Amino acid sequence: MSEYVSTRGDGGQIGYEEAILRGLAPDRGLYVPTEYPVVDLDLLRKMAEMQYYQQFVAINSLFVGDDIPIAVQRSIAVGTYSRDIFDMPDRHTMTPVQWLDGRIVVQQLSLGPTAAFKDMALQPLSRHLNYALDRRGETLRMLGATSGDTGSAAEAAIKGKDTMSLTMLSPTEGMSDFQKAQMAELSGDNIMNISVDGRFDDCQDMVKRLKSMPEFADLGAVNSINWGRIAAQVPYYFSGYLEIARDNMSSPAIGSEVDFVVPSGNFGNVLAGHIAKKMGLPIRRLIVATNENDVLNGVVEQGVYRKQGNAQVTSSPSMDITTASNYERVLGDVFDGDSDVVRRYMEKFEQKGFVTFEEFGASPDSMKQLGFVSGSSTHADRIQSMRYAYSRCARVIDPHTADAVAVARRIISSDDPLDMTPMVCMSTALPVKFEGTVQEALGFVAERPARFVDLEKRARTLGSRGFSATIASGDIDSLARLIRTF
Ligand SMILES: *Cc1c(COP(=O)(O)O)cnc(C)c1O
Repeated sequence: MSEYVSTRGDGGQIGYEEAILRGLAPDRGLYVPTEYPVVDLDLLRKMAEMQYYQQFVAINSLFVGDDIPIAVQRSIAVGTYSRDIFDMPDRHTMTPVQWLDGRIVVQQLSLGPTAAFKDMALQPLSRHLNYALDRRGETLRMLGATSGDTGSAAEAAIKGKDTMSLTMLSPTEGMSDFQKAQMAELSGDNIMNISVDGRFDDCQDMVKRLKSMPEFADLGAVNSINWGRIAAQVPYYFSGYLEIARDNMSSPAIGSEVDFVVPSGNFGNVLAGHIAKKMGLPIRRLIVATNENDVLNGVVEQGVYRKQGNAQVTSSPSMDITTASNYERVLGDVFDGDSDVVRRYMEKFEQKGFVTFEEFGASPDSMKQLGFVSGSSTHADRIQSMRYAYSRCARVIDPHTADAVAVARRIISSDDPLDMTPMVCMSTALPVKFEGTVQEALGFVAERPARFVDLEKRARTLGSRGFSATIASGDIDSLARLIRTF
């Protein structure tokens, strides 16, 4: 139990602790468990009575195993999912649900310090890493790239933990002022922000190039390829499911099926749903919702994975991707656990930017057979969904959540009219992060949570302390120098 192997087959079996410290496997594959634990209906019913941190431990501990003593796992979960860190409506509800209509339910995942769902996993993961490093007497330098939400969520999680330091590259183009201000405010101590003149892809290329230098080969990763993030996202599929089951009289009972609709970029969130389903959570369809950058649509609909040239900048920027790193983790299921085929498939993709299931002997419908469905939205669709949510329940949703709602509504319109299966749309950010789009949709912006009032003003007073440097895209020498002296 809790043994991990690379998706590409090399490097043997390691435990949870080693997997989260390494991030990427030596053969450049991603770590996946050798087997998936099963959660039966009895445990599911017991979990319905638990608070979120207990539900979290019940599921997450199945992936952590003995690498962290269970008492430590519990105390980490209590400290993480507390009202000091998450803006929970009460001690029991960490991921509150709200019905928009007879089928659509919104599950809130963005009550953390940086108002995006990434806090849900990065908060506990940073504590697991801290525990492991402390026990070993080691420290870890990390380097990451962000297009928006990862930056502040990773920084908020790692800030002040003296076993780790983090350098975060962010593009001058594409991030909102709010997101930049969030990062600026977290700079200092063990956190360094570097601005790269260009786009997100430029930042990511620089991370890859730097890590390929021997001097920086040991740099850790906080991006969503870290197994610890996936393992910490699985629990909220259970909590959302259970909240719907106990929410009201018309809700389906524990044991009946639901659909989840997941605004997707790197495929990390929806992959956690797929794992919850493999563990026995009654999920019927996992709906991969994308925006104009719809790489994942091609995979689900046609079995074709095609790298897109440059990501389009959209009004749901956290999903503006050209490839979806975590997608590799589902390939074991597509190719019947044959890691050799997975490796060849991924190598073909890395070389050519284009690969199909068929050329490796799998059906073009493989993703559909696993229960995935996909759909994408345009800016106009998202604006319309934001208006819909507001008109139904006076609920202001952000453009990423709106993407899920748009896709859900389109799919419902072609479902059997008697189908009453709930469609749980994951709310991956608070509207405060994207006020421009909210204003466009509704003509006003929602009141800010107290911690974000004046955020941009506070960040401006930091001046150059918020971002240590702006460097040209591709300027590896400057990046290396900055990291050496950090
Ligand atoms: C990161 C992010 C996503 C995409 O999640 P993936 O796990 O990369 O698919 C969606 N919405 C928001 C707001 C995000 O920050």
